[in-house]
Amino acid sequence: MINIKKIRKQFGGNVCRQCINKEYGIHLLHTDCQYGMMYPGKCPCCGDMKNIVTGIKLSGFFKSFGARKGKYTK
Ligand SMILES: [Zn+2]
Repeated sequence: MINIKKIRKQFGGNVCRQCINKEYGIHLLHTDCQYGMMYPGKCPCCGDMKNIVTGIKLSGFFKSFGARKGKYTK
């Protein structure tokens, strides 16, 4: 299970969706995440200009359970 607090703690701030997926081995879609800004920001993890995730929606939250079981992992 993941949540935005855990992500912030781990990365030291909000990061992009790709970094979350990579770190946790899950497959969050754009629609699973909440974005505080409508424009891209610099991700502190990969250093790219990306949409920074500021929250996980309920659909993404459930996927984070699945990730633990390997259901959504590649
Ligand atoms: Zn990133």
